[in-house]
Amino acid sequence: MFRFNKELLSRDIVLCVPFKNNEFLILVLCNKIFFDRKFMSQLKRILITGGAGFLGSYLCERLVETGHDVICVDNFFTSQKTNVAHLLELPNFELLRHDIIHPFWLEVDEIYNLACPAAPGHYQYNPIKTMKTSVSGAMNVLGMAKRCRAKVLQASTSEIYGNPEVHPQPENYRGSVNPIGIRACYDEGKRAAETLFMDYHRAHGVNIRLVRIFNTYGPRMHPYDGRVVSNFIRQALTNVDITIYGDGSQTRSFCYRDDLIDGLIAMMNSSDDFVGPVNLGNPHEFTILQLAELIIKLTKSKSKIIKKPLPEDDPVRRQPDITLAKQKLFWEPNVSIEEGLIKTISWFRSINFDEFRAPTPNHG
Ligand code: NAD
Ligand code: UDP
Repeated sequence: MFRFNKELLSRDIVLCVPFKNNEFLILVLCNKIFFDRKFMSQLKRILITGGAGFLGSYLCERLVETGHDVICVDNFFTSQKTNVAHLLELPNFELLRHDIIHPFWLEVDEIYNLACPAAPGHYQYNPIKTMKTSVSGAMNVLGMAKRCRAKVLQASTSEIYGNPEVHPQPENYRGSVNPIGIRACYDEGKRAAETLFMDYHRAHGVNIRLVRIFNTYGPRMHPYDGRVVSNFIRQALTNVDITIYGDGSQTRSFCYRDDLIDGLIAMMNSSDDFVGPVNLGNPHEFTILQLAELIIKLTKSKSKIIKKPLPEDDPVRRQPDITLAKQKLFWEPNVSIEEGLIKTISWFRSINFDEFRAPTPNHG
């Protein structure tokens, strides 16, 4: 009845079990994932650059769980191996330490290009390197996509809108970025990457997807990345002062990690005639002061709020217009800020802050 077959996934011993209507049930012994033959033909080899980071590690997890072969490439500048340690033993996961500013050679079907420091303190630490990661990194993954005929998704950002005069921000708003300010290495780097993606698409027919991600938070944020959610939760849990930059009236709209990853996967799987750009984020907007008060309430912290100077070029307000994502991807966020913060706080309670190395001194 049973027969062994070593070829099907070229990675595992699998059992083929006659099922029904001439179908076979394929049992993968190592990770106990069950496949049928039709499903297996849809499995892909997927590269995730920046795959050890906050968003990348959860994307790796989701795609590995679906059965895809996932290759994670990361230089661990702003992350650590512990984010993907639980995947290392799986037969359909591979981890490579590599810096994407240097060319690399892989054979893949899809690429999610997430490699880039994302927190202001991280990307401002070595701004020239940030620009190289966005621009040279984009050229390297686009070259690979062209050679392999792979589909490639770029993790762009709401920062390409700069300090917006249009509110909320739709995709056809061209933004207001200071090209010589301290955020420009990231904002202009990501804008140049979008340009490269569109030019490879027009000139070489590369199958691209452009996604503009708005502030996202959740478990596995680096506790010393200096971003507002991680700073406030760490400060609240350790009962030290909560640092508001400026008067706290600036706004952001925060999306929970799981919602965002659903959006990334939906965009990768969307019709080839919709390349984006598309905004992905939670439209629920509130002030940084309101965020601090909510985190104090949810953690029952004794921390006091203190004010610090507002960093240069800090956007005054930010809120995604997600009409396009709703229309084209049938996507919208489901997780409320309270629900998302409770899960994130619970993860922060479970970690030992001393086991995390601060990637840069810029964490407030
Ligand atoms: P993160 O810092 O946790 O992850 C980035 C990952 O890229 C890290 O693992 C880092 O080590 C790696 N990396 C950086 N430079 C690299 C290089 N040159 N070569 C190889 N690896 C490199 O940040 P994140 O929040 O997970 O962001 C992931 C992506 O999403 C980034 O491209 C970011 O710009 C984009 N994004 C994130 C947000 C957000 O709110 N989280 C918002 C907008 C855009
Ligand atoms: N911020 C703050 N205190 C902190 C960290 C950040 O008040 O400890 C503010 C920051 O000035 C900005 C907002 O929170 O107005 C969001 O900052 P973050 O670095 O998370 O992301 P940004 O959206 O600015 O890239």
